Amino acid sequence: MEFKLFNTLTRKEEVIHAMDGEKFRFYCCGPTVYGPAHIGNFRTFVVQDCFRRVVEAIGIATRHVRNITDVDDKTIRDSQQAGQSLAEFTRHWREQFESDCEALNLLLPHVVPSAVEHIPEQIALIEVLLQKGLAYQGDDGSVYFRIRAFAGYGKLSGLKMEANRSNADQRLNAADEYDKENVSDFALWKAWRAEDGENRWESPWGLGRPGWHIECSAMSMRYLGQSFDLHSGGIDLIFPHHENEIAQSEGATGEPFSRHWFHVAHLRVEDRKMSKSLGNLHTLESIIDWGYQAMDLRYVLLSGHYRQPLNFKRHSLDGARTALQRFKRLAGALPTVSNAPVNQRQWGPFQAVIEALCDDLNTARALGELHTAAGQLEKALKGAGLSPESAQAAADGLANAMIAFGFDFERVSIDGEATKAVEIPAAILTLVKEREAARNARDWFRADSLRDALHAEGWTVEDTPTGPQPKRQ
Ligand SMILES: [Zn+2]
Repeated sequence: MEFKLFNTLTRKEEVIHAMDGEKFRFYCCGPTVYGPAHIGNFRTFVVQDCFRRVVEAIGIATRHVRNITDVDDKTIRDSQQAGQSLAEFTRHWREQFESDCEALNLLLPHVVPSAVEHIPEQIALIEVLLQKGLAYQGDDGSVYFRIRAFAGYGKLSGLKMEANRSNADQRLNAADEYDKENVSDFALWKAWRAEDGENRWESPWGLGRPGWHIECSAMSMRYLGQSFDLHSGGIDLIFPHHENEIAQSEGATGEPFSRHWFHVAHLRVEDRKMSKSLGNLHTLESIIDWGYQAMDLRYVLLSGHYRQPLNFKRHSLDGARTALQRFKRLAGALPTVSNAPVNQRQWGPFQAVIEALCDDLNTARALGELHTAAGQLEKALKGAGLSPESAQAAADGLANAMIAFGFDFERVSIDGEATKAVEIPAAILTLVKEREAARNARDWFRADSLRDALHAEGWTVEDTPTGPQPKRQ
């Protein structure tokens, strides 16, 4: 089976294959770890995960790299505000991100490099760019990329440097306030400034820290080679981040950098743009607090085609839950899945699902096909039944489809009540029980102090006719 995917660089759909004939090597720009990732960030990560699952489902092995940005303006600023070291601060948010990814059933990338752990690689790359005349050191000690010296600049974003000069200058300039030859030039190495505090590293150009763009060039080439199969990120990264990555990498090696570029469109929330000021930067925690499961969110994030903006609506989580419960019930009515590896199992009545996924990762159409096939099977099961062969093909096909979408039935609860109980941590339940015991013993002082302890953990208790109900504050 062939998997066709739109390539931002060539502006057409192209068949996915491993350049080296062995592994499909791809890089995804990872999170900046200075706060919880929001559901818009997770749309990109979930789509990338589904992409990898489909590549693997059609029998192509992968090598997947996703970085962690743990040094930049935001991580430095916010760690200082939190009164923590950069390492301590970013470790916390990195762990939060990893736990969210686990809950959303994202496959672990094969390599998860962090920017701070790859400073020497970034310095080495900058040295090559300086030797080739593609970079220069400004009066402030920072090192800049000389955009005019790289002929291919603008080929990914379609930016005409002359025509869009002022627009490009503005956007590039917004991020950097250092001394440059040309306002469009971007920083490869930022000289240390007082506000950076202790966050500084030795380099041939003095103390400082890498610019943001250089880390992805250095780490992708370190783990995937100078030329690799695909590079991915949210659509907002096309310019300037990915354009700059191409300039740095191809400028240094003279080789094509990534062959294929795969970008995921924005998520909107209830018809509005996501923004801090609108207070709609929902996180996985928000979704759980509303009483849903991570799988419900995963379903919603895959319900639209990745090249179209997706409008997230809270009530769509209800539809997602119902759909997942439907598939789980159907699987329960079918035989045990055969032991063959996923890419050797038959798709049976779910053939149209993998065909839609292989057609520019059309998850929206694939979900439609999934429901159509499920409906026909439910009807057959209620009526004349299925032959043993058809039942086995249906069981295997459904299991394949669930793996390709990354829906894990173990995380889908048919009984909504039971789910809620699971999401209350054991330590909280213990406090609630102790408080109840204290109340029954009329030890009001102890009951109050236990309530305060719950508050400190971010929980309240409502005393209802059926007993105390812990709730998140
Ligand atoms: Zn990146």
